[in-house]
Amino acid sequence: MAEVILAVDNISKHFGAIAASRNVSLDLRQGEIHALIGPNGAGKSTLVKQIAGELRPDAGSVRFCGRPVDSIDAVGRARLGMARTFQVSCLAMELSVLRNAMLAVAGAAGNVFRLFPAANNDAAITGPAMECLRQVGLEDRAMTRVADLSHGERRRLEIAMALAMSPKAFLMDEPMAGMGPEGARTLTPLLDSLRAKAPILLIEHDMDAVFSLADRISVLVNGEIIATGSVDEVRANRDVQKSYLGDGE
Ligand code: ADP
Ligand code: MG
Repeated sequence: MAEVILAVDNISKHFGAIAASRNVSLDLRQGEIHALIGPNGAGKSTLVKQIAGELRPDAGSVRFCGRPVDSIDAVGRARLGMARTFQVSCLAMELSVLRNAMLAVAGAAGNVFRLFPAANNDAAITGPAMECLRQVGLEDRAMTRVADLSHGERRRLEIAMALAMSPKAFLMDEPMAGMGPEGARTLTPLLDSLRAKAPILLIEHDMDAVFSLADRISVLVNGEIIATGSVDEVRANRDVQKSYLGDGE
């Protein structure tokens, strides 16, 4: 079995009377896309925030690359290679696509403040930044202002910036939200190719994308994982059909 990169062990989280996570356990293994699906309010984003270190669980623990990370904050977990995309867009709108990618490369190298004076000339940073853009198909847009990009192109730039951090796992919370069918068509093959770099925990409502991309699917309902399995296993699961896929009865 492939190496476990990320392991969530028995996480629970309450907001007042709401149990947003109830004894949630799941893992993410090298090379896979593990989709997390479930109705609105099921607790998907809350779970990802706890994995990323943005929110502290009431109980349970998270291991990443073989070590417990419970006492490490979100910035520290990102440095270890947890690449969080999409929830918080941190693009500099007035700067070029290339300059944004260069900031990510420099930030990953720990010298973001030294970058500004001569950023355009710094070949040591331009080269890797262009390589990240190439991997998401944005090299032709390098000199475009981020403000002039389409929604889908911005999402791809965010992935390019995550790639600059040498990610060991991607955490993606609804990457296709608001993109329309065209955006989903370009993002699906990109996510497909990314799993070779690092496994992806993918929260996504677009079931066509989930069914075509996921190696495994976990279904979260009312804070609880009610099923984990292959696409076929999850589609055939009666509980899942009843509570989420809506094609049962
Ligand atoms: P999903 O991402 O699956 O739609 P969320 O994780 O956003 O679900 O929310 C799970 C539940 O927790 C919901 O009932 C939501 O209202 C509640 N919730 C999420 N964040 C907070 C918060 N900061 N304070 C109080 N309740 C919250
Ligand atoms: Mg959510």
